[in-house]
Amino acid sequence: MFLEITGLTKRFGGLTAVNHVDFSVEENKVNAIIGPNGAGKSTFFNLISGFHPPTEGQIFYRGLDITGMPSHKIADLGFARTFQTTHLFEQSTVFDNVMVGHRLRTKSTLVDAVFRTRRLKREEEKCKEKALEVLEFTGLSHLADRITANISQEEKKRTAFALALATDPSVLFLDEPAAGINPDETEGLTDLIKRISSTGITICLIEHKMQMIMKLADKIMVLNHGEKIAEGTPEEIQNNEEVIRAYLGG
Ligand code: ADP
Ligand code: MG
Repeated sequence: MFLEITGLTKRFGGLTAVNHVDFSVEENKVNAIIGPNGAGKSTFFNLISGFHPPTEGQIFYRGLDITGMPSHKIADLGFARTFQTTHLFEQSTVFDNVMVGHRLRTKSTLVDAVFRTRRLKREEEKCKEKALEVLEFTGLSHLADRITANISQEEKKRTAFALALATDPSVLFLDEPAAGINPDETEGLTDLIKRISSTGITICLIEHKMQMIMKLADKIMVLNHGEKIAEGTPEEIQNNEEVIRAYLGG
């Protein structure tokens, strides 16, 4: 089992945002989560990535119980994410933003910092190489030295992808990556996600744009009012009566 979620529940006071959800994230696949606004999709991601402790339920990653583990520990296991609104250092260059992603993973010790050991220099070199590699992969090489505030919304989204990829993730969580970009840009981002997936990174994708979901998803879970109302292949989901009533038809 890769990433196994059982009975996952989150209550905020009287509100149940996620209600006893069981889900298996399949390795090397694109696992999609859809559902109306307020269905609990982002909360579901926040629980898995350790941003909120669940009220009930369990999360196992390769057999290891990671339920309630803090987010930095979970990140160390190789989980990376992008957020619904991009979190970038707007006044820094695109390159420096991506370097931050890699530094999160290569912690230098105090001894390294004091003596600036060869190891530290080597790490710094590796960090730069990785940043250049992910900038190339995400189609941003030509923007490396630009101030982030001055690039387009779609380029910022790619930068957020590059930052996540710089951590060498095994699982990548994408929360509505195509929100606020046009259809052509959405095509481009769909292609990028496909290429990321083909490198063997497992993807969990929340998205409203159905053409993107249908092109990418190997399996889909549908949440409504915090509950899983359906799960299946894109074709099964498109033809599911309850899903059409709750979401697709609405
Ligand atoms: P989605 O991403 O599907 O639109 P969310 O997971 O953001 O839905 O939200 C699910 C429900 O949980 C909503 O009713 C939302 O208002 C509530 N919620 C989300 N985060 C919090 C929080 N930190 N505190 C209180 N309520 C929250
Ligand atoms: Mg959300």
